Amino acid sequence: MSVGPGMVRIAIHTVGVCGSDVHYYTHGKIGPFVVKAPMVLGHEAAGTIVEVGDGVSHLQVGDRVCMEPGIPDPNSRASRLGLYNIDPAVEFWATPPVHGVLTPEVVHPANYTFKLPDNVSFAEGAMVEPFAVGMQAAYKAGIKPGDTAVVLGAGPIGTMVAIAALAGGCARVIIADLAQPKLDIAARYQGVIPVNISKQNLVEEVRKLTDDWGADLVFECSGSPRAWESIMALPRPGGTIVVVGLPVEPAPFDIATASTRELRIETVFRYAHQYDRALALFGSGRVDLKPLISATFDFEDSIVAFDRAVEARPTDVKLQIRMAKD
Ligand SMILES: [Zn+2]
Repeated sequence: MSVGPGMVRIAIHTVGVCGSDVHYYTHGKIGPFVVKAPMVLGHEAAGTIVEVGDGVSHLQVGDRVCMEPGIPDPNSRASRLGLYNIDPAVEFWATPPVHGVLTPEVVHPANYTFKLPDNVSFAEGAMVEPFAVGMQAAYKAGIKPGDTAVVLGAGPIGTMVAIAALAGGCARVIIADLAQPKLDIAARYQGVIPVNISKQNLVEEVRKLTDDWGADLVFECSGSPRAWESIMALPRPGGTIVVVGLPVEPAPFDIATASTRELRIETVFRYAHQYDRALALFGSGRVDLKPLISATFDFEDSIVAFDRAVEARPTDVKLQIRMAKD
């Protein structure tokens, strides 16, 4: 593929394995997106610029970068409103029929390619994509300094939402899950309070910690319809629920409680305008996601990496595949 105006060619270095990649690997589809022809997986990537097209001024050959995997139509109505993540025309890596980037090189728009600060590794650069979801959730939540948040689900996304919420000004984040190893990993971050819902009642714990007032913000990251059965009891009056996890089945939504307590509901689809903010947090040392990288595999061992991701060990947060050895 030639490098046209406004484009760059990137030698891929590190690619994270995402839940969506694993789902295509095992099921061949996610909802309406069905894999009909062989498709390259991977969308959480960092690499090095090897060629620069005409008109690109902010990047040069040799720059270490990470990339947004979604390319919208820049002239679409959604893009012109700044909502490029929900542009119906967006093409997203490793979403059929678009190939992903577990491949030596990719040609990509320079405007969706971000230079890594010198102190941010390729491995961390490949963490920007999943962290950007947490950033988008924190941004949509409208966090105020000193807020108390609840995060439902301590998987990779829930953990990253908790870290982004703390970076965004939350004083503390109560994170809930059934799996103790996941809670233990999240609780390594200062300000995170783990609640194991197989042993503790989350509503009671939140009431205890907030003097019966409720949490300012609740992030639903479990994707479980069951979470919606009791979620309305968690926010304070006038509080906010941010929907991050996507239940496959319809979930019960208690409209009367939401209305009588004037709860605000926000939704999140991927992210927009978050990569530069995420990289600023990594570069400043305010956010360190290295403890979330559980194992790294060489490209030749990609099948091993994917099979381990299928195992879904509770001690694994993020698995990565390295295309280059150095
Ligand atoms: Zn991902």
